[in-house]
Amino acid sequence: MAIEVEKTAGEQTSLRRISHFVNGQVVAGTSGRTGPVFNPATGRQTGEVDFASVEEVDAAVAAAKAAFPAWRATSLARRSEVMFRMRELFDRERRALAEIIVAEHGKVISDAVGEVSRGLENVEFACGVPELMKGGFTEQASTGIDVYEILQPLGVVAGITPFNFPAMVPMWMFANALACGNCFILKPSEKDPSASLYIADLLKRAGVPEGVFNVIQGDRVAVERLLEHPDIAAVSFVGSTPVAKQIYETATRNGKRVQALGGAKNHMVVLPDADLETAADAAVSAGYGAAGERCMAVSVVVAVGSVADPLVEAIRSRLDKVKIGPGIEPESEMGPLITREHRDRVAGYIDIGRNEGARVVADGRARKFEGDGFYLGLSLLDDVKPGMKCYQDEIFGPVLSVVRAPTYEDAVRIVNENPYGNGVALFTRDGGAARRFQFEVNVGMVGINVPIPVPVAYYSFGGWKSSLFGDTHMYGPDGVRFYTRRKVVTSRWPGPSTSKVDLGFPQNRG
Ligand code: NAD
Repeated sequence: MAIEVEKTAGEQTSLRRISHFVNGQVVAGTSGRTGPVFNPATGRQTGEVDFASVEEVDAAVAAAKAAFPAWRATSLARRSEVMFRMRELFDRERRALAEIIVAEHGKVISDAVGEVSRGLENVEFACGVPELMKGGFTEQASTGIDVYEILQPLGVVAGITPFNFPAMVPMWMFANALACGNCFILKPSEKDPSASLYIADLLKRAGVPEGVFNVIQGDRVAVERLLEHPDIAAVSFVGSTPVAKQIYETATRNGKRVQALGGAKNHMVVLPDADLETAADAAVSAGYGAAGERCMAVSVVVAVGSVADPLVEAIRSRLDKVKIGPGIEPESEMGPLITREHRDRVAGYIDIGRNEGARVVADGRARKFEGDGFYLGLSLLDDVKPGMKCYQDEIFGPVLSVVRAPTYEDAVRIVNENPYGNGVALFTRDGGAARRFQFEVNVGMVGINVPIPVPVAYYSFGGWKSSLFGDTHMYGPDGVRFYTRRKVVTSRWPGPSTSKVDLGFPQNRG
């Protein structure tokens, strides 16, 4: 299956149709409803994505349900072999997949390759499925009685994913889900849907049988059907907090197992003893990388005490040097935002902040760009206070706020009072302060001199508070827990000496 994408302005004349993938085939939508897909670097529409109807969702779930008995009965050795082949294909096709991401998301190519690489870690983890699906065994729990636990797949599970990581977030989900023996329905973001079809094709080439992995394109109609469908056992969601909460409430009400990861407002606390240059570099790369459209992006720098003035100046001095341009060009360090509407919404926070009393150190609107791409320069707001709208809202763009805190205690209180709890970073040279911070801070993922602490695939990813609804984090050991259910068997077997049947044991022979 070839996926043609527009890479630069002028290469494409007609709109590409982006359809569903069901039962091992690309299936054109029949609902008559579609949505536009843009190249954010040019601002031009490049594709039209089908939006599934209830009936089309039902057909995908039926295909997955039909595939489940054979897939769950497939040996662990064989499923592991498929995962290894998948690993090789993703490794080989890293760049091709990254180019598809760039063409619809807009992030820079090195970042897109990085996204695929981080996603691939989850496939690598899932290659170890025979080890991951080991249960427990207790011999002689009572006389002649053994008790053991078996991990079994759930059935058909769904993944609903956001625009900002169109390959990595699906990989967080389906790698473990499939390895554990489930069948999967992916509902990717309608803003950058093509990566999902490329992934579907790779999985098919890796030997994933028909119906085991399916893609349903669409919007709320498709999501709501998945949430209520009686044959969907579990739902994994990653996206914004209001939607995550709604997904969690609806799907749990319908009896499903749910993990729903929401939005974020990540703080980076800089203590006065921190290495200033390192901290400023980290704030710029973590605050503005991927145009701030990362759930683990640093959104607020909390400058403690005397570090504030030099830190703000060190960050400011770096902003004009960041090269903004089409993601496909290797020299670009930051690309456009996902849509025109989102770019304008993000830009609006500069005036919102100013009107609330923040100091606009850098106004990204001052940078001018040629063409109609969804670009915005880098903005820096100082003297931001908790309670301001520019502090409370998840801006999800290249607008970094600085909150000044007199002491370490004030900084921790600010972080802990924020309703989100996805990621947080501390920059310091003091090991004692770092240890105290990790103990006290109410956030799910903590970086010590690491600005974006996304856990490696053999830990699990998850925020606290409004950044996660559900009990299990995503991928890693929690992913295996989420995609399996436990069965405990209590067994008694008569010993050979009491057996009436001659099984050929020596002691049974008179
Ligand atoms: P979004 O919530 O708008 O959309 C996510 C998914 O939900 C998409 O597939 C979309 O089609 C669907 N959706 C949107 N509105 C819906 C509705 N009303 N009913 C049913 N389904 C709906 O998120 P987005 O804009 O695509 O992604 C950005 C958001 O995702 C940010 O808030 C970011 O912080 C968050 N995010 C979180 C993590 C994490 O790990 N916590 C990771 C990546 C992104």
